[in-house]
Amino acid sequence: MTHTRPATAPVTIFGPDFPFAFDDWLKHPQGLATLPASAHGTEVAVVGAGIAGLVAAYELMKLGLKPVVYEASRMGGRLRSQPFEGGQGVIAELGGMRFPASGTAFYHYVHLLGLQTQPFPNPLTPAAGSTVIDLEGQTHYARSLAELPPLFTEVADAWSEALAELGFGDLQQALRQRDVPRLKALWDRLVPLWDDRTFYDFIAQSQAFSKLSFRHREVFGQVGFGTGGWDSDFPNTMLEILRVVLTGCDEDQHLIVGGVQQVPLGLWAHAPRQITHWPAGTSLASLHGGATRAGVT
Ligand SMILES: Cc1cc2nc3c(=O)[nH]c(=O)nc-3n(C[C@H](O)[C@H](O)[C@H](O)COP(=O)(O)OP(=O)(O)OC[C@H]3O[C@@H](n4cnc5c(N)ncnc54)[C@H](O)[C@@H]3O)c2cc1C
Repeated sequence: MTHTRPATAPVTIFGPDFPFAFDDWLKHPQGLATLPASAHGTEVAVVGAGIAGLVAAYELMKLGLKPVVYEASRMGGRLRSQPFEGGQGVIAELGGMRFPASGTAFYHYVHLLGLQTQPFPNPLTPAAGSTVIDLEGQTHYARSLAELPPLFTEVADAWSEALAELGFGDLQQALRQRDVPRLKALWDRLVPLWDDRTFYDFIAQSQAFSKLSFRHREVFGQVGFGTGGWDSDFPNTMLEILRVVLTGCDEDQHLIVGGVQQVPLGLWAHAPRQITHWPAGTSLASLHGGATRAGVT
């Protein structure tokens, strides 16, 4: 399937290995699918009440099926928000906490539930105010990259140039336009080159970083850009890193005011406006009498 979208369309999580416009399908006036009436009310087991299980259960319910959700631990899974006792609404996110704007399907549900978002205070972003970088006893305070010593800008520029060596611009353009044949052609060229090679290998052999000192690579690993240091990712395959940066997952991230666990909990309680087979007001909670079933063994 090829979607024609303008060259200026935003980057979304529509990747070389996920070329499905799930966000468009979610918006479709006819819904995700229709099932024959004979299937309505059929029970479907959903194992796990994390965000994946609850989204699946919510959408299956809208189609007229009867999801039966099993959860071994706590609803929300790795989206878990813990209020501090006496903390006046302060929340600790114990799992996922920052969500890129490119995650349009995720935000479909955030907006459906009427939740508020705020820019995540990533290093050197306006939301952070000031960032402190402490490297081997040298401390820098900065509001933006420009306020740091030139070394940091050299590292940031080298990262952009290194990505350009991989054809990053063309790949992102194909993603913006959801041009699957073009995306596949570009990606297929990279797979044999990078499938078995690490992120560090990529950095070390890139022309951009080769021109600079070892210290530049070290600083890139320790400080990184966007969400923070990259060195814990150095042993990963370069293709995995490329997926993250291509789809904008490391930039323009937001938090959910009041805690992200409201997304899974909200889907559990939400009565969809458009629903097949079930009476108006039906929710996952009402179909389950309020509680998920116990863990599956
Ligand atoms: C510390 C941390 C930080 C993270 N930061 C981010 C971030 O900033 N941004 C981001 O996008 N992502 C982040 N993630 C990843 C994100 O939280 C997960 O990718 C996402 O929540 C996974 O959702 P899921 O539904 O696929 O799985 P899970 O949330 O793991 O849900 C699976 C559910 O299945 C249940 N289960 C397992 N076995 C059984 C069984 N036998 N029977 C019944 N139930 C069972 C589990 O108890 C769990 O509730 C982070 C994760 C962690 C842990």
